[in-house]
Amino acid sequence: MLRLTPSRVRDYLLCPLRYHLRYVAQVTPLAPVESPALAFGSSLHAALKAYHRLSPTAARRVSPVALLSANWWRGQYEGAEQEGKYFDEGVAVLEQYLRVVRPPRGERVQTEVMLTQDMTLNGERVRLRGRVDHLAHVADGSVLVLDYKTSARGLTPSEEELAADLPTFIYFLLGQRTFQRAPRVVVAQLNLRTLDRVDVHYTPTQQARNAARLAALACAVQSGPFDPHPSAGCPACPVRLHCPAFSARRGFIRQG
Ligand code: SF4
Repeated sequence: MLRLTPSRVRDYLLCPLRYHLRYVAQVTPLAPVESPALAFGSSLHAALKAYHRLSPTAARRVSPVALLSANWWRGQYEGAEQEGKYFDEGVAVLEQYLRVVRPPRGERVQTEVMLTQDMTLNGERVRLRGRVDHLAHVADGSVLVLDYKTSARGLTPSEEELAADLPTFIYFLLGQRTFQRAPRVVVAQLNLRTLDRVDVHYTPTQQARNAARLAALACAVQSGPFDPHPSAGCPACPVRLHCPAFSARRGFIRQG
């Protein structure tokens, strides 16, 4: 059965060849580079996961420094000074989060929840899977599916942009099908640095358009073509060593 996740869909939309090499040809990918930004994001995700698992009393008492220290990921920082700057920034982000984003009374939060649902798209059975950063069961029965972002520029998309984002729509489908009794499922993106949050309230037209795009994508990922789409992201692509377009570009740069 075809498996689609938000990251697989993101990979395909970024570059069909990258999708093919990773998930169809299954070439050996390069080990992920634990860049400072990546390690910083992972540390914050881990710290928030630990925070939301604390009892209410422990959550009120925990210090952001202790929380981050216990969940700090060692990335490829340039040195102690750079790592210290990232750490201080992480503490500031957590301080702000702990002060401002207190779950309202009656709300239950789970973090890093894996959701899976099988569905039919264009007559094909497809398994949708996605790991949700923050799943809130709100007091009125509705469900919030929240994705954390740690973009250095602190940018958040508009609601319209997020509503047109297929990976985000997968989270919505997963939430809607998993929590069928919930009166409402809202997907949202929260920038941890700025605490700007964008919620998506899909219109029926947006839902129908996204479902049609997802069905077309499910077809395309099975039949190809899988053309390369070179971009600024190529130097960090995990399958670049197997990509003719990347080799050609490197050769061209060397000759130049
Ligand atoms: S290196 Fe670039 S063009 Fe090649 S597969 Fe990766 S993303 Fe696509």
